[in-house]
Amino acid sequence: MNSQQSSIQGQLRRFEALCRDQGLPVTVQRRTVLETVLGRDDHPTADQIYEDVVARVAGISRTTVYRVLDMLVRFGMITKACHPGAMARFDGNTERHHHLVCLRCDRVIDLVDERLDALELPDTGHLDFEITDLRVQLYGVCANCRNEATASKPVTDETGAVLNPKKREKN
Ligand SMILES: [Zn+2]
Ligand SMILES: [Zn+2]
Repeated sequence: MNSQQSSIQGQLRRFEALCRDQGLPVTVQRRTVLETVLGRDDHPTADQIYEDVVARVAGISRTTVYRVLDMLVRFGMITKACHPGAMARFDGNTERHHHLVCLRCDRVIDLVDERLDALELPDTGHLDFEITDLRVQLYGVCANCRNEATASKPVTDETGAVLNPKKREKN
Protein backbone atom coordinates (compact mmCIF):
# COMPACT_ATOMS: atom_id res chain seq x y z
CA MET A 1 0.00 0.00 0.00
CA ASN A 2 1.53 3.34 -0.99
CA SER A 3 1.29 6.47 1.13
CA GLN A 4 -1.61 7.91 -0.88
CA GLN A 5 -3.64 4.73 -0.42
CA SER A 6 -2.88 4.57 3.30
CA SER A 7 -3.92 8.19 3.79
CA ILE A 8 -7.17 7.42 1.92
CA GLN A 9 -7.74 4.49 4.30
CA GLY A 10 -7.15 6.83 7.25
CA GLN A 11 -9.64 9.36 5.87
CA LEU A 12 -12.23 6.63 5.32
CA ARG A 13 -11.84 5.54 8.94
CA ARG A 14 -12.26 9.15 10.06
CA PHE A 15 -15.42 9.37 7.96
CA GLU A 16 -16.78 6.13 9.44
CA ALA A 17 -16.21 7.50 12.94
CA LEU A 18 -17.99 10.77 12.03
CA CYS A 19 -20.96 8.84 10.64
CA ARG A 20 -21.15 6.73 13.80
CA ASP A 21 -21.17 9.91 15.92
CA GLN A 22 -24.03 11.30 13.84
CA GLY A 23 -25.91 8.00 13.80
CA LEU A 24 -25.65 7.79 10.00
CA PRO A 25 -24.98 4.55 8.13
CA VAL A 26 -21.76 4.31 6.11
CA THR A 27 -23.26 3.27 2.80
CA VAL A 28 -21.34 1.96 -0.19
CA GLN A 29 -22.44 5.13 -2.03
CA ARG A 30 -20.97 7.45 0.60
CA ARG A 31 -17.73 5.50 0.89
CA THR A 32 -17.26 5.32 -2.87
CA VAL A 33 -17.87 9.05 -3.44
CA LEU A 34 -15.36 9.93 -0.73
CA GLU A 35 -12.80 7.42 -2.02
CA THR A 36 -13.18 8.83 -5.53
CA VAL A 37 -12.58 12.45 -4.50
CA LEU A 38 -9.62 11.48 -2.31
CA GLY A 39 -8.12 9.42 -5.11
CA ARG A 40 -7.99 12.34 -7.53
CA ASP A 41 -5.84 15.44 -7.27
CA ASP A 42 -7.32 17.23 -10.28
CA HIS A 43 -10.20 18.92 -8.44
CA PRO A 44 -12.98 17.17 -10.35
CA THR A 45 -16.46 18.60 -10.93
CA ALA A 46 -19.51 16.85 -9.46
CA ASP A 47 -20.22 15.39 -12.91
CA GLN A 48 -16.71 13.97 -13.26
CA ILE A 49 -17.04 12.38 -9.81
CA TYR A 50 -20.41 10.96 -10.81
CA GLU A 51 -18.86 9.36 -13.94
CA ASP A 52 -16.21 7.64 -11.79
CA VAL A 53 -18.65 6.54 -9.11
CA VAL A 54 -21.31 5.15 -11.46
CA ALA A 55 -18.64 2.88 -12.97
CA ARG A 56 -18.18 1.32 -9.53
CA VAL A 57 -21.66 1.56 -8.02
CA ALA A 58 -24.13 0.59 -10.72
CA GLY A 59 -27.37 2.52 -10.74
CA ILE A 60 -26.35 5.32 -8.38
CA SER A 61 -28.10 8.54 -9.38
CA ARG A 62 -26.51 11.88 -10.08
CA THR A 63 -28.66 13.42 -7.32
CA THR A 64 -27.32 10.94 -4.78
CA VAL A 65 -23.74 11.76 -5.74
CA TYR A 66 -24.47 15.51 -5.42
CA ARG A 67 -26.08 14.98 -2.00
CA VAL A 68 -23.17 12.90 -0.75
CA LEU A 69 -20.71 15.57 -1.97
CA ASP A 70 -22.61 18.23 -0.01
CA MET A 71 -22.59 16.02 3.06
CA LEU A 72 -18.83 15.41 2.76
CA VAL A 73 -18.23 19.16 2.49
CA ARG A 74 -20.39 19.73 5.60
CA PHE A 75 -18.40 17.08 7.45
CA GLY A 76 -15.15 18.76 6.43
CA MET A 77 -13.94 15.61 4.66
CA ILE A 78 -13.49 17.49 1.37
CA THR A 79 -13.72 21.11 0.32
CA LYS A 80 -15.32 22.98 -2.52
CA ALA A 81 -12.56 24.69 -4.42
CA CYS A 82 -14.11 27.86 -5.80
CA HIS A 83 -13.96 28.21 -9.53
CA PRO A 84 -15.59 31.40 -10.72
CA GLY A 85 -17.50 31.14 -13.96
CA ALA A 86 -17.57 27.35 -13.98
CA MET A 87 -18.97 24.44 -12.04
CA ALA A 88 -17.85 23.86 -8.47
CA ARG A 89 -14.74 21.75 -8.16
CA PHE A 90 -14.19 19.39 -5.26
CA ASP A 91 -10.96 18.93 -3.38
CA GLY A 92 -9.99 15.97 -1.20
CA ASN A 93 -7.01 17.89 0.14
CA THR A 94 -8.23 19.75 3.23
CA GLU A 95 -4.76 20.89 4.31
CA ARG A 96 -4.06 24.58 3.76
CA HIS A 97 -3.00 25.10 0.17
CA HIS A 98 -3.53 27.38 -2.79
CA HIS A 99 -4.46 26.84 -6.42
CA LEU A 100 -2.94 27.45 -9.81
CA VAL A 101 -5.82 27.75 -12.27
CA CYS A 102 -5.23 27.30 -16.00
CA LEU A 103 -7.30 29.83 -17.94
CA ARG A 104 -7.32 27.64 -21.06
CA CYS A 105 -8.20 24.14 -19.82
CA ASP A 106 -9.56 24.89 -16.30
CA ARG A 107 -6.98 22.61 -14.73
CA VAL A 108 -6.55 23.31 -10.99
CA ILE A 109 -3.14 22.46 -9.53
CA ASP A 110 -2.35 22.42 -5.79
CA LEU A 111 0.29 24.84 -4.57
CA VAL A 112 1.75 24.82 -1.07
CA ASP A 113 3.46 28.11 -0.25
CA GLU A 114 4.26 29.36 3.23
CA ARG A 115 4.49 32.98 2.14
CA LEU A 116 0.93 32.88 0.78
CA ASP A 117 -0.24 31.19 4.01
CA ALA A 118 1.28 34.09 5.94
CA LEU A 119 -0.43 36.85 3.92
CA GLU A 120 -1.76 39.56 6.17
CA LEU A 121 -5.54 39.66 5.91
CA PRO A 122 -7.12 42.97 4.88
CA ASP A 123 -9.53 44.68 7.23
CA THR A 124 -12.98 43.89 5.86
CA GLY A 125 -14.98 45.36 8.72
CA HIS A 126 -16.37 48.15 6.53
CA LEU A 127 -17.75 45.51 4.17
CA ASP A 128 -19.33 43.67 7.09
CA PHE A 129 -17.50 40.52 6.05
CA GLU A 130 -15.82 38.08 8.41
CA ILE A 131 -12.89 36.22 6.85
CA THR A 132 -12.65 32.60 8.02
CA ASP A 133 -10.15 31.14 5.60
CA LEU A 134 -7.45 32.15 3.17
CA ARG A 135 -6.94 30.53 -0.20
CA VAL A 136 -5.12 32.19 -3.06
CA GLN A 137 -5.91 31.36 -6.67
CA LEU A 138 -3.27 32.27 -9.19
CA TYR A 139 -4.30 32.32 -12.84
CA GLY A 140 -2.17 31.45 -15.81
CA VAL A 141 -1.48 28.82 -18.45
CA CYS A 142 -0.41 25.26 -17.58
CA ALA A 143 2.50 23.43 -19.22
CA ASN A 144 0.21 21.26 -21.39
CA CYS A 145 -1.56 24.26 -22.85
CA ARG A 146 1.68 26.16 -23.41
CA ASN A 147 3.21 23.18 -25.23
CA GLU A 148 0.13 22.80 -27.38
CA ALA A 149 0.22 26.46 -28.28
CA THR A 150 3.84 26.40 -29.39
CA ALA A 151 3.39 23.10 -31.27
CA SER A 152 0.35 24.09 -33.31
CA LYS A 153 0.14 27.86 -33.49
CA PRO A 154 1.83 29.36 -36.51
CA VAL A 155 3.80 32.53 -35.91
CA THR A 156 2.96 35.14 -38.50
CA ASP A 157 4.48 38.50 -39.37
CA GLU A 158 2.42 41.66 -39.85
CA THR A 159 1.48 40.66 -43.42
CA GLY A 160 0.14 37.31 -42.23
CA ALA A 161 3.00 35.26 -43.73
CA VAL A 162 3.83 32.19 -41.66
CA LEU A 163 7.29 32.45 -40.17
CA ASN A 164 7.50 28.99 -38.64
CA PRO A 165 6.10 26.54 -41.23
CA LYS A 166 5.40 23.16 -39.59
CA LYS A 167 7.01 21.06 -42.30
CA ARG A 168 10.00 22.03 -44.31
CA GLU A 169 10.06 21.03 -47.95
CA LYS A 170 13.82 20.68 -48.02
CA ASN A 171 16.08 19.25 -45.33
ZN1 LIG B 1 -4.10 24.22 -19.28
ZN1 LIG C 1 -6.57 21.78 -4.06
